[in-house]
Amino acid sequence: MGPYTHDETADPELAHHPEVVLLPENTQQVAEIVKLANHHKLPIVPRGAGTGLSGGIVPKFGGIVISLERFDKIIEIDSENMFMTVEAGVITERVQEAANRAGFLYAGDPCSGHSSTIGGNVATNAGGNKVLKYGSTRRQVYGLEVVTAEGDIVFLGGKCMKDSTGYSLLNLIIGSEGTLGIITKVILKLQPLPSHRVDLLAIFPDRSSAMQAVPLILQKGIIPAALEFMDNRAVQCCEEYIGEKLPYRKDAYYLIVTLEGDDEGFLEGQMALIDEVCRDSGVIEILAADPRRIWRARRVFAEASRARSPVYSGEDLVVPLSALGVIIKFIVDRGEEYGVTIHCAGHAGDGNVHAHILKDSINDDNWRQILLALHDQIYKKVYSLGGKLSGEHGIGYKRVKLLEEFCHPVELKMMKAIKQCLDPNLILNPGKVLQF
Ligand SMILES: Cc1cc2nc3c(=O)[nH]c(=O)nc-3n(C[C@H](O)[C@H](O)[C@H](O)COP(=O)(O)OP(=O)(O)OC[C@H]3O[C@@H](n4cnc5c(N)ncnc54)[C@H](O)[C@@H]3O)c2cc1C
Repeated sequence: MGPYTHDETADPELAHHPEVVLLPENTQQVAEIVKLANHHKLPIVPRGAGTGLSGGIVPKFGGIVISLERFDKIIEIDSENMFMTVEAGVITERVQEAANRAGFLYAGDPCSGHSSTIGGNVATNAGGNKVLKYGSTRRQVYGLEVVTAEGDIVFLGGKCMKDSTGYSLLNLIIGSEGTLGIITKVILKLQPLPSHRVDLLAIFPDRSSAMQAVPLILQKGIIPAALEFMDNRAVQCCEEYIGEKLPYRKDAYYLIVTLEGDDEGFLEGQMALIDEVCRDSGVIEILAADPRRIWRARRVFAEASRARSPVYSGEDLVVPLSALGVIIKFIVDRGEEYGVTIHCAGHAGDGNVHAHILKDSINDDNWRQILLALHDQIYKKVYSLGGKLSGEHGIGYKRVKLLEEFCHPVELKMMKAIKQCLDPNLILNPGKVLQF
């Protein structure tokens, strides 16, 4: 498989060759390519770094991949107005580091930040490890430069902190996964850089006590930057992958809590409250964690699962907080019923579960059947609990059929009408998000 045929979705069936890969270096060139493609009705797939987990950059219908990798300039940091302007292909970690050097925080923080691009983050409305406190990528964006499906260049949003000027086309493009426009520049919100940080690792005897603690922490008025969970299998798998031992107990369930702020005394007060809530929920142990070790383990979850089973299905479902324990138990029980290993970790504070269903040595035909049956049961349950298909990875190609099945028909009709209006020849990332 060539590098432009697939993303990080661990499924070889989600790969396809484009006819051509183009690496434009300015917006005008992108616009000219799109005009030509639109005239000849050729498919275009915008590509960031290819770290997506839903097959969003797979050129399923061939055509042109437009890689934004040459759009790698940090254009401006405006300290007075607290925003920065960057090209879409800048790696997320470079954005974070540049903001830090100027004394600010850029709050977008997906686990893939060392390799994903900011344009990809905006196009998928990426989440990550600080959503609870700062919001997903959508909340970090003030403005976008976009090339439309007809090759026009437009600026959406701007440099202001609020905007009620007509429909929010800015928010329509954010999360549209390359199906409504190609993002070439991004104006990002900056915030004061917190001076203190504390990481806690809470080890619970079982799933239900850990999940009980999650809403209780938030109900105390504590807003952690991160509130993550890992089940026992996920911890073991990540430990093996990074070759480091974490504090471990058989069958235990893990919560990672990160607090950020400027007032050390206030953070200590919040730690005491978290300690109290966790003890009331039956925690075995609560430790001040080494952030490097604990976050390294949490961030490699996708790579560790792939090392264990090169093919796996990564789910990204989201449910209301009170349903978190219920849905994880349901998923794990179904795994046992079908004889497949499922690891779960994710953003507990956001109700966002990454369940990795491992193929291991199951033969291809059985795997397809098991996966279909599991998806059917899991997503019926997710929707019955008020949840949704994807919390942050998007629909891409992988979840198109599921969206068709589970999205309300009127909502789906509205989405299709928008797509047809903004991209009448359906050239932008065809086969992704919606099927026609
Ligand atoms: C180890 C690992 C950890 C991850 N952790 C997280 C996490 O914590 N949170 C999270 O949300 N995601 C996570 N992801 C998924 C992925 O990194 C994100 O979806 C990321 O935002 C994709 O960025 P990218 O630049 O790689 O985009 P790509 O994979 O290249 O593209 C993703 C989608 O965006 C579109 N796109 C890309 N650039 C543009 C552009 N300039 N204009 C228009 N459309 C564009 C593509 O067409 C495609 O549909 C993880 C992935 C891995 C492999």
